[in-house]
Amino acid sequence: MQDPTVWAVLTGVMLGAGGMALLGVRFHRQQLAAFRKNCVRECRAMLDLLPQRLYRVDREGRLTFLNRPLLQDLGLPLSACLGKTASDIYPPELADKYNADDQKVLSGETLVMIEENIVPATGEKRYVEVTKVPVRDKTDAIVGIQGIYWDITPRKQAEEQLRQAARVFDNTMEGIMITDASEKITAINRAFTEITGYEEAEVIGKTPRIFKSGRQDSEFYAAMWSSMQTTGHWQGEVWNRRKDGEVYPQWSTISAVANENNQVTHYVGVFSDISSLKRSQEKLNFLAHHDLLTRLPNRLLFNARLEHSIERARRTRKSLAVLFFDLDHFKNVNDTLGHAAGDELLRWVAKQLAEMIRAEDTVARMGGDEFIMLVEAVDEPGNAGTVARKVLELFKQPIHISRHEFFISTSIGISLYPTDGDDADTLIKNADAAMYQAKAQGRSNYQFYKPEMTARVLERLQLETSLRQAVEHEELMVYYQPQGSMTSGQLTGVEALVRWQHPQYGIILPARFIPVAEETGFISTLDTWVMRTACRQMQGWRAQGLKLPRLSINLSIRQIERTDLTTLVAELLNETGLEPSLLELEITESLIMRQTAQAIRAMHELRSLGVWLAVDDFGTGYSSLSYLKQLPLHRLKIDQSFVRDITRDPNDEAIVCAIIALAHGLGLKVIAEGVETREQADFLRQQGCDEVQGYLYGYPMLAEEFVQTYRHLMG
Ligand code: C2E
Ligand code: MG
Ligand code: MG
Repeated sequence: MQDPTVWAVLTGVMLGAGGMALLGVRFHRQQLAAFRKNCVRECRAMLDLLPQRLYRVDREGRLTFLNRPLLQDLGLPLSACLGKTASDIYPPELADKYNADDQKVLSGETLVMIEENIVPATGEKRYVEVTKVPVRDKTDAIVGIQGIYWDITPRKQAEEQLRQAARVFDNTMEGIMITDASEKITAINRAFTEITGYEEAEVIGKTPRIFKSGRQDSEFYAAMWSSMQTTGHWQGEVWNRRKDGEVYPQWSTISAVANENNQVTHYVGVFSDISSLKRSQEKLNFLAHHDLLTRLPNRLLFNARLEHSIERARRTRKSLAVLFFDLDHFKNVNDTLGHAAGDELLRWVAKQLAEMIRAEDTVARMGGDEFIMLVEAVDEPGNAGTVARKVLELFKQPIHISRHEFFISTSIGISLYPTDGDDADTLIKNADAAMYQAKAQGRSNYQFYKPEMTARVLERLQLETSLRQAVEHEELMVYYQPQGSMTSGQLTGVEALVRWQHPQYGIILPARFIPVAEETGFISTLDTWVMRTACRQMQGWRAQGLKLPRLSINLSIRQIERTDLTTLVAELLNETGLEPSLLELEITESLIMRQTAQAIRAMHELRSLGVWLAVDDFGTGYSSLSYLKQLPLHRLKIDQSFVRDITRDPNDEAIVCAIIALAHGLGLKVIAEGVETREQADFLRQQGCDEVQGYLYGYPMLAEEFVQTYRHLMG
């Protein structure tokens, strides 16, 4: 804008010139008036053309002048605006601010500032740059204010965008590096320094080649540049070197920035440090193929290696062996010492197996207490047997876990390629079948696969399905085995033992189907059925006047962990009319040592019903007698495995004596199971054992036979 004073000076010069002219005064006056008028109009027109808003107010703040852009902002004709004050036009806060500003200007200040205001006509907000100066008269007195302002919103917005971009640039987690077209670094952000360790001053002006790790060859960089040239873009993994020398993987995106003439002016590289991602990827990969507990390969990895080895054996016409292991009685360890000890044992086993194998062989954990081994290049089957014997030998040493010393054994099944199968699945399946056979042979031994073993595994599967129908088809039966006094020979009780009259296989003993029932959950139905049948039988005998002091029934672990066990027992007693004190429930030692809250609660509840509780198979677990004392028990049943060799094995003798002495010390009665010979009975009697159960005294038999045999003692 040209200063209005220029016009005033011009006018003055003209006026002076006019005065000096020799032309007539009248003519001059007319000319001058026209000239002045013209000047004012043109000035006005020019001021109206300016994009800036111009105004003047008098000392009272009343508008005395405003240009067209400002009029447009106000949305009013000139006549409506003249004489208006800020308070008439703007909202109160804004008007107050303007009035305060005006006071300053009226006192002689000149204000230059950037502020937010609004367009009165639309209410729109905007940023303006304002200058307000005092207007003075000839005497230099301030008579008003002259203001000029212009909209700087677009500039402000651009600035804000820049500020935001700078904030993003600095705060982003990714490292950013900008280079010029000649690949000299021109800018980096904070994350760049955090990732690479280089400060800005160390890299500006350098080329990114200083980060090279040497892990990528020149072909790699050639491909990168070719992509940059064709697409202006490259993305991928690069291994670079940090300032401290560490080589790390980064995920990079590089883009070329071109100007309007399509010339590349800059390159922008954005990258993230993916070393931790890589690590977790590797970890994931490890986890997917290894067993977490033992860190051995898992089934998946084993299968892959086995398939691979079979391939190789096929080519080289070699043989290989698969050894399948299952720990014997592992469940006991878990149940009695707890899962932590069980885990420790599994780790111990894994370590032993891993240490004994050759580098080319593989040992893996299949799950639970099952392990599997791949032995490569077996020249003759005997070699696999040697490995198996070595494993059995390993297990002969005592294991120390949780301050306990104990022994564990394993049963091993072996299958050979190509005789027992020529694919991984078949070899594993057959080694598993052979392992079952090893268990059946009394555990702690190994067996080579034979085709008839598969039939046995199938049979187990069939058992599982047909067991579900056993109750409905009335195939289950309860046998009763007498228990007698050591001293008087009187009947002291009877134990109910379940049998399965299978339509195909004949009588099946519980050892074969109880584990299946426990696994499938059928055990609850089975135990309930046995309890109902036996209680009913006992009450039936009593109704006939046949007296028996006690009925013992076995409870499975599953059953005692039912929350409604007491209710169930109470209902059955109620239903059959049997007195609670005539019923004894046998709980295995391993269950007692699990010490689950539910089982302990159940025991107390059962005892308060009036039912007796006995510990079955005592000596096979690892219970402490002091712990037993806290439970509402009244009888221990010495496990038959100790009784069997009592007269031959001094160890067993000592154990049995100790059990009897300690049980009596705790006020518990003792009964010995599996007594078959007179010598055993004599020994037990001498040691003070209270009762006896076993073939010597009587076999388990059906109810009718029982009555026929023992009627004379049931008076
Ligand atoms: P258990 O409770 O320890 O039962 C004693 C086992 O020893 C019975 O085997 C019995 O027939 C056998 N036995 C008795 N006297 C002698 C003997 O002099 N010599 C030998 N060698 N054995 C003798 P059974 O009937 O085969 O039962 C095995 C196990 O199955 C039982 O051991 C018990 O734990 C379980 N069981 C039996 N019936 C049931 C049931 O109804 N429910 C549950 N949950 N388990 C049951
Ligand atoms: Mg029993
Ligand atoms: Mg027993």
